[in-house]
Amino acid sequence: MVNLCFLLPHHLIRNINVEAKQEVINNINKDIMETNPCNKPINGGSSIPSRVSRKTKPDATIVNINGVKVGGSDIVVIAGPCAVESREQLFETARSVKESGANILRGGAFKPRSSPYNFQGLGEDGLKLLGIIREETGLPIVTEVMDTRQVELVASYADMIQIGSRNMQNYPLLKEAGMCRKPILLKRGMMATIEEYLMAAEYILNQGNEHVILCERGIRTFETSTRNTLDLSAIPMLKRLSHLPVIVDPSHGTGLRWMVPAMAKAAVAVGADGLIMEVHYKPEAALCDGYQSLNLDEFAQLMADLKKIASAVGREISSLKPSHA
Ligand code: PEP
Ligand code: MN
Repeated sequence: MVNLCFLLPHHLIRNINVEAKQEVINNINKDIMETNPCNKPINGGSSIPSRVSRKTKPDATIVNINGVKVGGSDIVVIAGPCAVESREQLFETARSVKESGANILRGGAFKPRSSPYNFQGLGEDGLKLLGIIREETGLPIVTEVMDTRQVELVASYADMIQIGSRNMQNYPLLKEAGMCRKPILLKRGMMATIEEYLMAAEYILNQGNEHVILCERGIRTFETSTRNTLDLSAIPMLKRLSHLPVIVDPSHGTGLRWMVPAMAKAAVAVGADGLIMEVHYKPEAALCDGYQSLNLDEFAQLMADLKKIASAVGREISSLKPSHA
């Protein structure tokens, strides 16, 4: 076709180009949608990817962490310190949360800290302590990996590997973690949309690892009175779009110890499959996130209260006792 644009005034040429470009973009979007039957727009134009989609797999995925099942009818509670700080701190906290009914122990050995001058975690020494208390209590361990070079090391100690909010879009890390066959706890990026979040999970599933648990941990908004804004609407949305289990972290989601119990109960009420919470034997002396950590008594009380909320929504707090404890 002969291009007659040179006959038109300049401002009209500019408009034609803009419209043409928009059409190309629309066509590309249409093509992408058509190549993937699960990529249909939902709720105002966002789309969901394939393997994580409930359309691909209508039945809920149940992730089994050494006998503790997440995604079924029981609600699983993960508790423990933000960071492994010492033998005494970890062991006292672990024994107590187990006594109160926690099913899985958390504790960071490699910590993503906003300041390079803050405590960075004990590294492999922290992993070793987690290994010892895992043997004693029988509680499965979840701990974070931040670097592709550490996936193998962390996987050799952990029962479940955590990929934190800051690394949700670290694609090499997602792929590497996907290649190891351990369950993965993938936290929502603090600035990630639901679609971006599901795409990140898709990276892991694409490696053949379907043992992925999603975790809403608060997003950044204009609000400054809380550390993050805990997006509880993400729970029903994620559960509707995906077959993966969804848990909630009210500790990072609020950054406020006193608010954690209320939001934990709310999370159970809106359908979360579990909770991950920071608990410390001496929160006021914690090296990391003490202001949002429950003390041991507060956690015990919350566990009792959660039972009532769970039963009100037709579920139970998992009472699964680890097999070799
Ligand atoms: C954590 O769970 O210790 C943590 C750092 O969480 P997030 O990645 O959600 O900030
Ligand atoms: Mn923390």
